[in-house]
Amino acid sequence: MLNMKRVIGNRPSPCKRLCLGAGWGKAAAMGYRIAIIGAGIGGLALAALLAEDGHDPTLFERFDCPRPVGSGLVIQPVGQAVMGLIGLGDDLCRLSSPIAHMLGHGAGGRRVLDVSYPGDAPGRGIHRAALFQLLWDRVARLGLPVVTSAEVENAPLVGAGQRGSDQRILRLRDGREYGPFDLVVDASGAGSRISPLRARPLGYGAIWGTVPWPSGTALTRTQLRQRYHGASRMAGILPIGRLAGDATPLAAVFWSMPLAELEAWPEASLAGWKAEVTALWPEMAPFLEPIRRNADMTVARYSHGTLGRPHAPGLVHIGDAAHRASPQLGQGANMALLDALALSHALRAGLNEALPDYAAMRRWHVRIYQGMSAAFTPMYQSGSRSLPVLRDLVLAPCSGLPGVRQALTRLVAGTMIPPLAGSHAPQPASGQAAALRAARAAPISRA
Ligand SMILES: Cc1cc2nc3c(=O)[nH]c(=O)nc-3n(C[C@H](O)[C@H](O)[C@H](O)COP(=O)(O)OP(=O)(O)OC[C@H]3O[C@@H](n4cnc5c(N)ncnc54)[C@H](O)[C@@H]3O)c2cc1C
Repeated sequence: MLNMKRVIGNRPSPCKRLCLGAGWGKAAAMGYRIAIIGAGIGGLALAALLAEDGHDPTLFERFDCPRPVGSGLVIQPVGQAVMGLIGLGDDLCRLSSPIAHMLGHGAGGRRVLDVSYPGDAPGRGIHRAALFQLLWDRVARLGLPVVTSAEVENAPLVGAGQRGSDQRILRLRDGREYGPFDLVVDASGAGSRISPLRARPLGYGAIWGTVPWPSGTALTRTQLRQRYHGASRMAGILPIGRLAGDATPLAAVFWSMPLAELEAWPEASLAGWKAEVTALWPEMAPFLEPIRRNADMTVARYSHGTLGRPHAPGLVHIGDAAHRASPQLGQGANMALLDALALSHALRAGLNEALPDYAAMRRWHVRIYQGMSAAFTPMYQSGSRSLPVLRDLVLAPCSGLPGVRQALTRLVAGTMIPPLAGSHAPQPASGQAAALRAARAAPISRA
């Protein structure tokens, strides 16, 4: 990723503060002993939520020093509400760009995507490193143990513990074993070795990079902008705030392409690529200037799939380990945050009911968004000739109709249906954190 090392390299390494002091977890005074595989967005958020509830979570991360992979993303109002609950709402606002509008145009300049957020609840574009740092620092402040250089191979059952529920141990690739645990949470993302999910690889991926927001652009820093050539190419610019300790405003730039071209990206002509992008969208030129090498753009591949049952005795999957989709709707990190919240909420009623309760709380929200992603993604990223015509000539005009506009707003905001069924789910406009606090305090009723 462009300038990633330079940009974050001059800040104190989070590892100095956490990894070096990381050790094996202390015995729990109360609550459950819980292993979380993966210190990513979902795993870190869950650890913070569980610790506040008196559980004893320990994170296991394969990297020597956990690090964010990728460029920027949008935290939708529902995800912001979870960040607020973790005590990071203000920090998220400080480091991110408010996204009031998502605009997409066809090659000829025709507007084919136009979605606004409610004025008091914008999306938040943020650099992955900034989001990761906030969660990581929160976990450090809570003093939670993190075992790094710990690639988990599997999590076998070892029988019932003192409380009568199934326990598991963690077996690492290097042969180390930890446990037993009352619960193992698989938050190890799209490449999970633990999850039985076999996702379908998508035919299109993208290259992503991070650049300073250029001074001479007419584009505004409150809009996610996209430009399409049919559905086979998509250029995008997402304002992503700034990194802590650095005032430089940043943008994530992305360009989607079919897998075969993605494979060839490291050897592709950079000048040829820049010429292709600027021919489609001249305003993107100043954003491409700082990109000097192919390696400045990170290759991302996508897959799609959902676990029918995201749990087994003593084991539960959250985030991308439970469901994966293309980032077209910008929901993946939000889904991981909501899963973490639902699981922490479900555990308040005791371990026996917690896993089916968690699954029930999230089932329909996950299904609807997975369905929407499967339906919409090919209109923006595929080799289809007919779908972009349908998008431009039918869907785009309809999107301005009363009712449809509001439905699209709710779709991107993550509130198409209540994110946590069976409780007072967050309706993230203003006061979203308060709504979520109410959700967590509410008794669980099964959906
Ligand atoms: C290019 C791109 C753009 C995206 N844009 C958006 C967006 O705009 N909005 C949005 O909401 N989402 C977006 N997403 C999706 C989002 O990034 C993911 O859905 C989200 O990061 C999932 O969180 P997670 O906690 O499940 O997994 P991750 O954040 O991927 O974390 C998994 C962690 O587990 C660790 N791990 C993996 N295997 C093991 C193992 N065996 N043992 C120990 N540790 C392990 C990994 O090192 C990693 O730290 C985007 C994704 C991509 C690729």
